Amino acid sequence: MSDSSTEPFLVFGAPRIEAAEIAEVEACLRSGWLGTGPRVAQFEHDFADYQRVAAGQVAAVNSCTAALHVSMIAAGLEPGAEVITTPLTFCATVNAILHAGLMPVLADVDADTRNIDPAAIEAAITPRTQAIVAVHFAGRPCQMDAISAIARKHKLALIEDCAHAIETEYRGEKAGSFGDFGCFSFYVTKNVVTGEGGMIVGRDQAHIDRARVLALHGMSKDAWHRFGDAGYRHYQVVEAGFKYNMMDIQAALGIHQLRAVERHWARRKAIWQRYQHAFAELPVTRPLEAAPDTRHAYHLYTLMIDEARCGMTRDGFLDAMNRRRIGTGVHYLSIPEHPYYQQRFGWRPEQWPRAMANGRQTVSLPLSPALDDADVTRVIEAVHATLR
Ligand SMILES: *Cc1c(COP(=O)(O)O)cnc(C)c1O
Repeated sequence: MSDSSTEPFLVFGAPRIEAAEIAEVEACLRSGWLGTGPRVAQFEHDFADYQRVAAGQVAAVNSCTAALHVSMIAAGLEPGAEVITTPLTFCATVNAILHAGLMPVLADVDADTRNIDPAAIEAAITPRTQAIVAVHFAGRPCQMDAISAIARKHKLALIEDCAHAIETEYRGEKAGSFGDFGCFSFYVTKNVVTGEGGMIVGRDQAHIDRARVLALHGMSKDAWHRFGDAGYRHYQVVEAGFKYNMMDIQAALGIHQLRAVERHWARRKAIWQRYQHAFAELPVTRPLEAAPDTRHAYHLYTLMIDEARCGMTRDGFLDAMNRRRIGTGVHYLSIPEHPYYQQRFGWRPEQWPRAMANGRQTVSLPLSPALDDADVTRVIEAVHATLR
């Protein structure tokens, strides 16, 4: 570890921002139109194209958390209804259910894919269940045939948390197109970056229209129509909405990030495969290869650090990587590890043992398209040196 401490810190999840994004942000600033306007409209149009849906079926918002929140409301569920989701997700998935006045119910993951287990969903259904939120973990699609069938059979709303899954496909269909809503994130570490940002894809026109209204104060006309050059138009407030709209400055980044989405995907896939090869002989569990007839978004590359096999705890591994100046992530400590949910619902991690075991052993290595080959070599050497 002698001279490694002089090397720059490799930031986990650093985005790849190029000249086109920078020029577009500058043009946006110079245009005088910073808020929701023509660049958001273009980004929505381009994103709808990429997701192979009509332009009217998407709504840009300022985060995936906002997308999940308004989707939960626009799904029109009864207050207090139960919503089944995974314990192996970011807290925003569960908080959005709570903020919509609904009751989260956790169903354990499959230990290998880390996606919600359809059999566990079935087992968690009660007469009060009205929705499922599926999270495509790391960009690997959930078993959408089984989950869609459960939703149909029990007349449940289906919402897809696609924060990791912009490029994901399942049997030729895009992630986000199976549910009533698909919710996407453009946070700095995600596959398309706007700084903060999100998108809702909605199947039913009335539902996506309502989500769009909810995302801008509950106003019947958005600011683009109000302040454009078409003359003053009165708006009407039709319900108590939220301040969740995306700005043109954010969309300026997104327009060019989306043009690079396939190039960045190919770069992450190449890094992912280098890691798979480099760690084949180590006493760690590597992620599963993409399943046949699916497309993996390669959002995260995770190793399982099992103390019994590695002679080192997961947290010891994180510290050792940090000393070698490599940033890492943990996706995720399972939801019931957090005190808020323990206190409010009496949940204990042991109730969802597969998510608990995953959350206590998992480490995410840097997988940004901004990494060059030498950066990837540094990560590989640091992992080998740590586990030697
Ligand atoms: C990042 C993330 C979110 C939240 O996205 P934001 O855009 O930061 O609000 C939700 N769910 C999952 C699984 C995520 O990884």
